[in-house]
Amino acid sequence: MRRILVTGANKGIGLAIAKRILAEHEDTFVFLGARDRGRGESALQTLLVENPAFKERASVVALDVASDASVSAALEHVRGQLGQDGTLYAIVNNAGVGSSAGGGLGAVLNTNTIGVHRVCEAFLPLFDAQRGRIVNVTSASGPSFVAECSAENKRFFLDANTEWSDLEKLMRECVSFAGNESAFQKRGLGKGDAYGLSKACANTYTLQLARRYPKLAINACTPGFIATDMTRGYVTAQGKTAAELGMKTPEEGARVVLHLLFDPLEGNGRFYGSDAKRSPLDRYRSPGSPAYAGD
Ligand code: NAP
Repeated sequence: MRRILVTGANKGIGLAIAKRILAEHEDTFVFLGARDRGRGESALQTLLVENPAFKERASVVALDVASDASVSAALEHVRGQLGQDGTLYAIVNNAGVGSSAGGGLGAVLNTNTIGVHRVCEAFLPLFDAQRGRIVNVTSASGPSFVAECSAENKRFFLDANTEWSDLEKLMRECVSFAGNESAFQKRGLGKGDAYGLSKACANTYTLQLARRYPKLAINACTPGFIATDMTRGYVTAQGKTAAELGMKTPEEGARVVLHLLFDPLEGNGRFYGSDAKRSPLDRYRSPGSPAYAGD
């Protein structure tokens, strides 16, 4: 039985990922992470209505990735469920917030970047050291952010030897610039878009994690432009439907994640587009265009 933790699994792309794992891979058990247990249980009920057999292969774990205490409690819960010899096969770090979620840059970084670090560092001891996978759902906004950076900052973001403490230092500096676009410009960080910065840092953390755990398959990806609560405000502002804007469904957004969880992969510490092909970390590649073949 391959046991997989999906964070932010109570709706949107996270719920679609959980559903596709359960439907397409019968040898799996999914821990549906939800910061609100009630919302998690409701999501699980919607899955069970569609397929009551999932009952034996899924459970909810209360998990707020922005909270050390919540991550510790979730770790103990999952450890208890695994039993003495059980291991975790994979983590999908899907939980995330947009720039408009409230709380400013610090809150966006605490969920989208520090949350990924918090969950990985806590749950990695539950892995079999010889096998397992981590999929970080970041965004094409990460490479698009790096594209606007100075050459020195590009090297920083693309370097697998950039340590977590280096990323923490950068994030602290950026929080001190918050709301001051010219400070970001002077520091070679473009306009300092909060969401793009958080995803660029999460991509760089993916590189260093893959370097530290070469026997695991640790990669990041963008799900694509997906119609969810996160993008609803944008759709409304455009005055068009999601389909008219070329957006895809959460199930389609799960495609690359399923690929990175289960298919043979050609490497480690890489970033993939929504078409499940590799993309560069310092510029946008549109889905369907040739895959990136660099290091
Ligand atoms: P969504 O519908 O807003 O879902 C976000 C999920 O993350 C929800 O379950 C939410 O829980 C959860 N979450 C937020 N903060 C959390 C926290 N502190 N702890 C635990 N869970 C938390 O958004 P989505 O579009 O499915 O986004 C999923 C991921 O895909 C995100 O990382 C996002 O950045 C990324 N992404 C999305 C798109 C897109 O076009 N939609 C594009 C690129 C990347 P609550 O229900 O409790 O709020």
